[in-house]
Parts: sequence; structure tokens; C-alpha cells
Amino acid sequence: MVTFCDDVLAGLQLPQKSIPSKYFYDRRGSELFEEICNLKEYYIFSSEVEILTARAPELTQVTGRKCNLIELGSGSSVKTKFLLDQLESGSAYVPVDVSQELLEEVTRDLRLTYPELKIHPVAGDFCSSLGHLAEACDKRLGNALFFPGSTIGNFNPDSAEDILRRCRELAGKNGFMIIGVDLVKTKSVLEAAYNDSRGVTAAFNLNLLTRMNEELSACFDLSTFQHSAFFNEKESRIEMHLVSLNSQTIPIAGQQVHFDRDETIHTENSYKYRPEDFIKLAQKCGFSAHLGWTDSKGYFSVFILSSSSE
Ligand code: SAH
Repeated sequence: MVTFCDDVLAGLQLPQKSIPSKYFYDRRGSELFEEICNLKEYYIFSSEVEILTARAPELTQVTGRKCNLIELGSGSSVKTKFLLDQLESGSAYVPVDVSQELLEEVTRDLRLTYPELKIHPVAGDFCSSLGHLAEACDKRLGNALFFPGSTIGNFNPDSAEDILRRCRELAGKNGFMIIGVDLVKTKSVLEAAYNDSRGVTAAFNLNLLTRMNEELSACFDLSTFQHSAFFNEKESRIEMHLVSLNSQTIPIAGQQVHFDRDETIHTENSYKYRPEDFIKLAQKCGFSAHLGWTDSKGYFSVFILSSSSE
């Protein structure tokens, strides 16, 4: 198994230093992410909730009210409740997340709220494989995947394609996928969402250094790094970086890693789609777009994709 340590040391040797974004989500990182969702600038949360609140009955009518609901990157499962409220007893919920502690806590709470629901949490990386998730499902029921939060946007186009193909396989012949996709829009709105005035997103980004200090015996001084997030129009993505303010050499897991002044660690991409481009991508991966909605501001879309070729 590739560890946090392996990924960090390999990523910090690249010409453009980078660390996979799944490592944001330790306990503190997951807490900070929930805070981000409550920020007025971070429209992604409120826009997606607006759509899911209005469309949950329609969405679950399409998937069937008795189904296996499999969520990739379930986090706090807050958005899932709109769907779970509509499901009939005998349905199964399979939340998948790298943040094991949070997953266990959320599962405990959900079992109290939904005693009739079979909940099979799976801790792990949804990039490594999805095949084993089928084992957590009730074979007699259809599969519906739920992939909210524009998490698909955190993957480059090739990886996004790869994930969607594997989702299509897991959905099976007559399955569905409900997916949240953030849309291209004015640069100022996009950049404000990742540079909030209270500095929560900056703290979320910098927490990666704290995690390395705690788990890899690194010696980062957080005051010598700065959060940076900007829209790269050519690539249609928000990029997040940690910028070294000095020339410095940092011990990490017994190695010495040098940073030039202004050199960055690329910590995340968040791709923004045009609806027609996302539909094309989904079709390329074997899905057909069944229905799609946008919030009242036109910022965010939720699609329900069908795995049957209509
Ligand atoms: N679905 C929630 C949370 C989105 S944040 C929402 O829409 O609000 C992204 C979540 O995905 C986090 O909880 C994070 O821990 C998880 N995650 C990110 N990359 C992952 C990966 N490769 N494998 C499994 N979980 C991942």
C-alpha cells in the first residue's frame, strides 16, 4: 500500500512539487472542510443543496426508491440525507471515504436516524479500485452512485475519465450515477470561493503542513508558507498552492527537502466544466445523461447519468 509518507516524498521530488489532495482530509482537515461549506463565498455547498432539496424525489424515482446508494467521498454525508429520506426500507447505503474516523462517526449517527437502512461503510481510496464495493451491495437491488461536491473536479481530465469508466462498471447495466459538477463562471466568483475572507480555506491548505509535522516528523514553520488559489483559465481549473516565502530546507521523514523562495507545492486542482463538455465526457465513459439541473444562480449542476444506452 502506498503511504502518506511515500506520496509526500515522491511528490516533493517533482519539478513542480505536489501532494495528492486526498491528504487534506485528516480529522482537522475534515472539520475545516465543513467550515468551508458554511462560508458565504463557497457557493458549491449551498448551490448543490438547493438542487438536491428540490430534486430528491425525482432523483430517487429514477434510481428506484429501493436501491444500493454508493457514495464516493461521503465526508459528513449531509447532502446524502436528502436522498436517504426518500429511500424505502431494505435499501443499502455504502459510504466510501479516506477519512476513517469521520466515516465511523457518521455511520453511527446515520444508523440511529435511519434504522431501516443497511449501512456498509468502506474506508479507503476510491481511486484504487471500486470492484470490492459491489460486495457491500445487495445484489437483488440496482446500484446508484452518488458523487457530489464537485469531487470529480479534483481530478485531471484523464483521471476523471478513468474514474467515470469504473463508476459505469460498478453501476452495472441498468444503474445510475448522481453527480455534482461545478461550472465555469466569472473569475471573481470562482476565486473568492477559494480565498474566503475569514481565511478558512487558507487554514485548510496549511493544515497539510501540520499533518506532515505530526505524522512525518516534518519541521514546517507555517508562518513561512502562504496559501494561494487562482483560476487557471487555459486549464479551466482553480489551482491551490502553498508558497514558500523563503529559501529553506525542511526535514521531512528523515529527508531534507529544499524550497526556493516563491517555490510552491501544488496541493489541489478543481476543474470547472461547461455542461456540454461534462456530458460529452460522461458519454465517452459509457453513460448517457438522463437529466440535469442547475441552481438559480447558474453556478453548479447536478446530473443523473444512466448506464443503459438509450
Ligand atoms: N461529499 C461531501 C464531501 C466532499 S469533500 C460533500 O459533497 O460535501 C471530499 C470528500 O472526499 C472528503 O470527505 C474526503 O475525505 C474524500 N476523499 C477525497 N479524495 C478521496 C479518495 N481518493 N478516496 C476516498 N475519499 C476521498
